[in-house]
Order: sequence, then C-alpha cells, then structure tokens
Amino acid sequence: MKCPFCTSLESKVIDSRLAKEDTSIRRRRECLSCKSRFTTYERVEEMELLVIKKGGVREPFDRSKIIAGMIKACEKRPISMEVIENFVSDLERVIQERGDREVESSEIGERVINKLYEIDEVAYVRFASVYRSFKDVNQFLNELTDLLKEKGEQIKLGRKTDSTIHALTLIKDKTKK
Ligand SMILES: [Zn+2]
Repeated sequence: MKCPFCTSLESKVIDSRLAKEDTSIRRRRECLSCKSRFTTYERVEEMELLVIKKGGVREPFDRSKIIAGMIKACEKRPISMEVIENFVSDLERVIQERGDREVESSEIGERVINKLYEIDEVAYVRFASVYRSFKDVNQFLNELTDLLKEKGEQIKLGRKTDSTIHALTLIKDKTKK
C-alpha cells in the first residue's frame, strides 16, 4: 500500500477494526519511511456474475437453477449430489477466475453437457435433447453419432458405448409414444 505522502510502499498496521456495518475492516497504518499515518479499508469485492441469455437479456447467475437442471437429467442415475454441486462450484470459479462478470448461457449449457457426457450417457442424452431442443430425434442422433466417432478412439466397445446405446433406445422409445 503506497503511502499517500511519500509514496513509499512500506507501512505497518497500527490499528485494525471493523468499520460501520461490519462489511469492511478499517486499518490505521504508519509509513515506515516518513512516519505519516493514513487509513485503509478492506472489503470483500462484490462480484455478481450475470448470465447473458439468447437475445441479450441478462440475469444473475443462479447456481440452484443449474443444479436443478442437472438433477432432473440425472434422475435415477448413479450420480451423487456431491458430483453435481462440485461441478457447479468449479464452473462458477472458472468463470470468475478469468475475470469475467458475464457469461453466455450457451457456454454454461455446453459445459454441463460435456460434464454429463463424461459421467453418464443417459443423463447426457436427457439433458442435451432438452437443452438443444432438436427438431427431431434424427438430428440429435446424427450429432451423437459424430460425437461418438470423435470419442471413438477412447471409447472402443466398452461399457460407455453400451450405456449410450441404451440411452438412445430410451430416447427412441420416448418419441414413439
Ligand atoms: Zn510515507
């Protein structure tokens, strides 16, 4: 903290107390060079994160909304609440750490989709089909096929592929009704 009298950077705190309303700490400092005294205030940076929706409308970042959407997609799937909550906390931190105060809703949606793809194909299919609101199931299947091709190297014919096929069967059954 630069001394306002001599611009020295060295000072010591001689007194520290909560300021009015308890939202900041008032510190009395003494410059080590010129011995002048000055006051600093320290407060939590109020950083509200806004979500930019389609059409440019902004609304506050609402973690409970994202969690609710994920819980719905993960219904009856072996995914703990902890996994969902940790993911949303990480998501919020990643956005804040890059210094942005706004984030496109589409970025949040894509990050959720990628996460679900990683952890559970059924949840992924449910979320992606609602979120991307595909015109028909074929469009969705095409995209999913491309994605599987991309990931094909890693997936091979393991458990993951099986559950994806299962998820596709579910969504086909759903559209028949
Ligand atoms: Zn000074």
